[in-house]
Parts: sequence; structure tokens; C-alpha cells
Amino acid sequence: RRAVNTSSTIRRSTQIVKTGGILNSSITSTMDSQKFSSTSKDGITPPKNFHHFLNEKSLKRQPSLIRELTKLFASAEPGTIFMAGGLPNPDLFPYTSFSLQIDEKTSINLSSQELRLALQYQPTMGHPELHEELTKLVQRCFPPPHWDNTGLIVTVGSQNALHGMLEIILEVGDPVVIPNPCYSSTLSIMDPYSPTYLAVPEDSDGMQPDALRSALQNWYGNNSPSQSDGNEKVKPGFKRPKILYVNPTGANPSGIVIPTERKKEIYRIAQEYNLLILEDDPYYFLHFLQEDPTTFLSMDVDGRVIRFDSFSKVLSSGIRVGFATGPKNLIRSLEMYLQASILHAASLSQVVVNGTLRNWGNDGFRQHMETVKAFYRKRRDLMLEAAEKHLTGLAEWSTPNAGMFLWLKIRGVDDTFDMVMERGIQRKIMALPGREFMADKSKPCPYIRVSYSVIPEDQIEQGISRLAELIRDEQKL
Ligand code: PMP
Repeated sequence: RRAVNTSSTIRRSTQIVKTGGILNSSITSTMDSQKFSSTSKDGITPPKNFHHFLNEKSLKRQPSLIRELTKLFASAEPGTIFMAGGLPNPDLFPYTSFSLQIDEKTSINLSSQELRLALQYQPTMGHPELHEELTKLVQRCFPPPHWDNTGLIVTVGSQNALHGMLEIILEVGDPVVIPNPCYSSTLSIMDPYSPTYLAVPEDSDGMQPDALRSALQNWYGNNSPSQSDGNEKVKPGFKRPKILYVNPTGANPSGIVIPTERKKEIYRIAQEYNLLILEDDPYYFLHFLQEDPTTFLSMDVDGRVIRFDSFSKVLSSGIRVGFATGPKNLIRSLEMYLQASILHAASLSQVVVNGTLRNWGNDGFRQHMETVKAFYRKRRDLMLEAAEKHLTGLAEWSTPNAGMFLWLKIRGVDDTFDMVMERGIQRKIMALPGREFMADKSKPCPYIRVSYSVIPEDQIEQGISRLAELIRDEQKL
């Protein structure tokens, strides 16, 4: 077993145990002990604490002692005798070897001893080697300004992280800022909380800052927050928006990539209204631009961005590995939530992702990404060509610069739901009605989302031409 950052991890963990971080702390004391340094180098004061952002349930949650000791053991001194956890004895796992070919030259081969460890429980933060590898990836690709205050946790895809983060923040009836349209599974997480959606329209550069500002101004009315810390005084019963959810690269469903300047404007508004930015970015590596997009995380001087990454679109979706990066305190709260819910992401999956990244190195990863991007770019271009040919005059769209989706506004059709779900299926095409991505699903929606990711190249034109026939018929109704 490779110990990662052994001495400092043990020192830190031991301290947590000694100071009661595990044994008798509430989340409050754990968080207080991890406060951001009061002022950053550039003179900007990060939020003092996150209590204000967490819901009551989450504030009550205690760390799991077993999970904390499992974490401690993963980096313990050689010779430490572990009698703390209920680990099943891996000698009884019936698997003896594991081998996975990546390409002609590369494979992951685990000896029986390595496999036993790979099949054992892992710390909730993630398999230590993968955790280390992901930390390097973040530092290489989108380093946050305050690395010392940044935490990272491995999750079951990014959905798990997003779900966990929302679960620890949201209270019933909270106002939340989302783009309109919005990733449907984010709405699925939020909907049961009966939130008030401050749904901000997108233009071709994503969420519009003016509309964002006026949505917030309208909400606050004369309850303007003081901007000094996270505990603004507002009228009793007034609920302040705490989060701004954004899906900045190849947005699902609109395909938009938010340019850097727009991101900066959105960030400034988040500072003004003390919002946490939930940066859900699973298509980050799947863009068709010359340069990698800037991320909210890398501009986060305040410690208000939690970023969600995923290997679903770049390695495998079924492997279910993603990770969240953000302010240590919040990652700690997410860790406690995951300690209680999933314990940790599947060990074998983590070992496979780690083995792949380590075998490839940065160059191999980049090379693979170029292959993936070229593949999707070609599909996108074929779909745009087919749309140009068959949908001109029937629909409007803009060119997606990342991701897997074309977002079509259908002309002369108020709402696409029945058209897609009934008559489309009869005509043997399947797409997603736009209503699925709307905060208010009771309103008619003239959009549909079509995906170019798995459709065979030779079916793209046929699919789009069937869609054109469907629209023509619908317009006659
Ligand atoms: N966010 C967005 C915007 C997505 O499109 C998806 C996948 N559909 C996810 C999150 C979840 O991805 P994962 O497989 O990493 O859980």
C-alpha cells in the first residue's frame, strides 16, 4: 500500500482526534477549526464560515468515527494494528487477479494482494492514490487561488457530489439561482424542496448577468444584504438565495460555453450577493475551442465555488467516478454526508481510474481527450450540416462549442412535449422535449434537445430529416 502525504495526514488527523474533531465535535466545531484565513493575499476576505449556507439537518450531522478511523488508517504508520473497523477479511474475496487492457501498450494489472486492497473499503475522501492524482489534475488544469483552503473528494460520478452538496444546503422553500434552461437532473434534486427558482435566461454566452442581477434585486427588494460577512441581517422569515448553479461548458441542454468575461461578471454578482457557485462541469474536457475554458474555481478568490468534475464523458460513464473540489469546510460537510450515505465511491472503479491516469500521465490523458473531442466535433458538425439542410426555416439553433447536445427552438410549435413523446416515437425518432429542462414545467416550451453522441454517423441525416417531417406535420396541426 502506498502511503500518501503520510506524516502530514497523520499529524492532521491525529490532531482532529485529540481536539475532539471526531469524538465530540458537532459540525460547528469542526468547521470553526478549519476557517479560512481571514484575508487573502489580494486583500479579499473569503466568507468567514459556511454555517449560514448549510441546512439544519447538515448542521446536526456528526462525523462517523469508523469512517474517520478508516481515513486515519489509510495513511497510518507501517505496523499499525487496525482493530477498529468492521472490514471484511479480503482473503475471503473470491477474486484472484485483475487485468484491464487500455490500449496496445497500456494495461492495469493487479496482483492478488493489490486486488484485495482494491476491493476493500476506502476512506470517504477517496482512494488515497487517486485522490493524489486528482489533486495534481486540478492543480494542473484549473488551480484555485487558495490551494491551502481547498479540499477534494471522490464521488460516485458528479451527480453524487452535486446531489450531496444540494442536500446539505437546501431547505424547503429556498430560492435558488439556476440557468434557464437547466440540467434536468439538477432540477430533479431541487424540485422536492419546492424551491423558488430564480431562473435566469441564457443568451449565446450563457446566463445573462443583467437578468441575474435583476432577478436578485427583485428577490431582495428592500432586504439588501450587507456584504461584510456571511451572516447578513434580513427580515425574519426572509429567505436569501444561497446558491447559483451553473453548467458552464457545453451546457446540458444548450451546448453553450460561458466565456471568461461572462464568468467574471457572474462571479462578481455572486460576491455581491454572497452566493455559493455550484460549478457543474462534466463536459469541461469535451470542448471544441482552441483553449481550455477558464473555470469559476480558478477565479475563486473568496472560496465560494464548489466544482464538480466527472470521468463519465471522458473515460466511462458506468465506472461512476467523479469528484468535487472547493472550500475545505464545505468539502468536509460533503464528506460527512457521504460518510453517512454511500461510505465511499466504489474502490475498484477508483483503482481503474487511478491506474489509467497514472499509466497515461498528463500527455496520454491529453491525447485521449483530443481523440474524444475530435470524435464529438465530427458528430456535431454532421448534425449541424443535417440541420442546415433539413431544419432551416423550421427551427433555430446555435453552434454548440462543447458537449453532446443541439438545442433546437422549433418554429410555429408552442410546446414540443406531445410532438416528441407521442408522434415522434411513432415516427421512430426519440429526442427530449425542452420542458424537461425548465424550472416551470407547466408552461409550454418550444424547444427540444437532440444528442449527437451515440447516434451512428450514417443515421444523423435520417434522424434530422424525420424530425423535419415531424415538425412540418406539427405546424399543420
Ligand atoms: N451534470 C450534468 C450537466 C450532466 O449532463 C450530467 C450527466 N448527464 C451529470 C452532471 C452527471 O454526470 P455523472 O455521470 O458524472 O454523474
